[in-house]
Amino acid sequence: MKRRSALGGKGRWAVGIDLGGTKTIVAQVSDGGKVLRKRLLPTNASAGPDRVKKTLVAAVKGLMEETDSPAAGVGVGVAGQVDAESGRVKFAPNLGWREEPFREDLEKALGLPVWATNDVRAATWGEWLYGAGRGCNDLICLFVGTGIGGGVVSGGRVLTGCSNTAGELGHITVDLNGPSCRCGNRGCLEALAGGWAIAQQAREWATSDPEAGGLVLKMVEGQTERITAKVVADAAKAGDPLALSLFERVAGALGAGAASLVNAFNPGRLIFGGGIFEGCPWLVKKVAEGLEDRALPPALAPLRVLRARLGNHAAVVGSAALVLHSSEKG
Ligand SMILES: [Zn+2]
Repeated sequence: MKRRSALGGKGRWAVGIDLGGTKTIVAQVSDGGKVLRKRLLPTNASAGPDRVKKTLVAAVKGLMEETDSPAAGVGVGVAGQVDAESGRVKFAPNLGWREEPFREDLEKALGLPVWATNDVRAATWGEWLYGAGRGCNDLICLFVGTGIGGGVVSGGRVLTGCSNTAGELGHITVDLNGPSCRCGNRGCLEALAGGWAIAQQAREWATSDPEAGGLVLKMVEGQTERITAKVVADAAKAGDPLALSLFERVAGALGAGAASLVNAFNPGRLIFGGGIFEGCPWLVKKVAEGLEDRALPPALAPLRVLRARLGNHAAVVGSAALVLHSSEKG
């Protein structure tokens, strides 16, 4: 079944929603990918899925009341896996949802066509059409935040895979005997370079060698549970040896992961985004060096390595793009 937007022609706009575990952004996005209005809401996932959906519906209605022309539809990037056919959220650990009816409920409540996809996939759409990927039909986005996810655009299509799970780029294995990952595997890219893994590793290193972890421990007043990836990044900026060696490992893992992706998909652009790259812009160069050491020369020759441009608007812009530029639901 192909979905059609409710409005054609110029001045089109859509609602883009980034539904995260703690925060939600609801935005009016123009056909040109500009955020015209936005609302930032607490997701309040603990109140249950019905309450979350009601809040979304109220926010979208509020947004529509402020505008003169009707929305073409609503796109939602969900922090979880979405079933392309039914529009159900199959699994969203940060929301506490399993097999939750979603797209249909929103369509009924709003009387508008709704698209729903994974939030990182939506961000890939955003960067591809309106950000660092503009004009390029073969690219990879790798977003490194608390976890690691991404998306692959190949031949002008965002790859979905046969059961809509393509793009789990954080769970490629980069170290056979590496640390345990939240997915159950060992040595995933995310288990070495995701924000949660950086924090966990720093806690372990600082506890086992408090002298080496001096600055990190000072920054959290000795309370290791307060060590986050941001603390480690700030310590690295200040020249702390423990933080710097940890980030060497992060860069090495990302370089190895990126080389595998470049060899597998031969993208024209590799786009790095997410909180870790935003907090440590110098990391891009280091990762690119590791990539150059490892990837096949014919795959490297046409490749440009770039930083993402849309920041935390990527998912709202991308989910609105699903409405405005695609007949796909995934
Ligand atoms: Zn994993």
